[in-house]
Amino acid sequence: KFNTNLGQHILKNPLVAQGIVDKAGIRPSETVLEVGPGTGNLTVRILEQARKVIAVEMDPRMAAELSKRVHGTPQEKKLEILLGDFMKTELPYFDVCISNTPYQISSPLVFKLLNQPNPPRVSILMFQREFALRLLARPGDALYGRLSANVQMWANVTHIMKVGKNNFRPPPDVESSVVRIEIKSPKPNIDFEEWDGLLRICFGRKNRTISAGFKAANIMEMLEKNYKTYLSTQSADSNNDSMMLDNKQDYLPLIKEKVAQVLTETGFAEQRASKMDQTDFLKLLYAFHQVGIHFA
Ligand code: SAM
Repeated sequence: KFNTNLGQHILKNPLVAQGIVDKAGIRPSETVLEVGPGTGNLTVRILEQARKVIAVEMDPRMAAELSKRVHGTPQEKKLEILLGDFMKTELPYFDVCISNTPYQISSPLVFKLLNQPNPPRVSILMFQREFALRLLARPGDALYGRLSANVQMWANVTHIMKVGKNNFRPPPDVESSVVRIEIKSPKPNIDFEEWDGLLRICFGRKNRTISAGFKAANIMEMLEKNYKTYLSTQSADSNNDSMMLDNKQDYLPLIKEKVAQVLTETGFAEQRASKMDQTDFLKLLYAFHQVGIHFA
């Protein structure tokens, strides 16, 4: 009956379902987005508290079952079901996001929420335990990585509750956890692509030093390409000859020198990303920008 390729594991424990919805602290004026409502075990509880629920469901059978469940109830007119893939759906305005997520889209779902023009006040999301722990991990923790450093730049993440596999039908292979994500507002004034580009290099090779991460040929070429773009934008409003882009020049030696200089001067050359925090990466990004090195 259930399509586990779509991550269909229905939450059957009513106490857990109510707990998740209550943790959102929904105000009667608020619109709630639910990703993957399934048969509606969370949806009917959200409908009792919210002004409006927008539920994005990919499986037409599930959407039909949900609309049957609310049909003829006072809540019916508060529910809007959008049939389709959440990742491809353009989202209307919403205040809160609640989801027992299909685990296949955990990471893209988080980044889609982070990148909304008006991000939700709070998101209460059920994830596979390991994914939740990666969101929460701090420098030095075994699960700390690019995902942790990236998400924690834009949001505060807290653990809400552990949920064992037997609370679902059919039970998934792994344990789950519910987390709260509060996106920082205002948004930190940092370019997402630049930040993620730096993290990609630093976390690129498991537990290698930062300088080792920068050694790869493809990375140097990417930095050279970005440097040329940077020069072409600089020379337009500069009288400084050293800022002029010369397409015949080989910039690789210069890039290597600049990278080595930044890594030495900041003291991060021999450090490992797994132990570095947000402030460290920000210092590094700033130092690279000072010498015209860009990651996007
Ligand atoms: N919310 C229900 C519950 O808690 O009982 C069902 C949760 S089940 C883990 C995930 C649901 O997401 C399924 O109904 C599945 O069909 C739906 N789904 C899977 N991938 C999706 C996607 N890309 N976009 C929207 N819905 C999706």
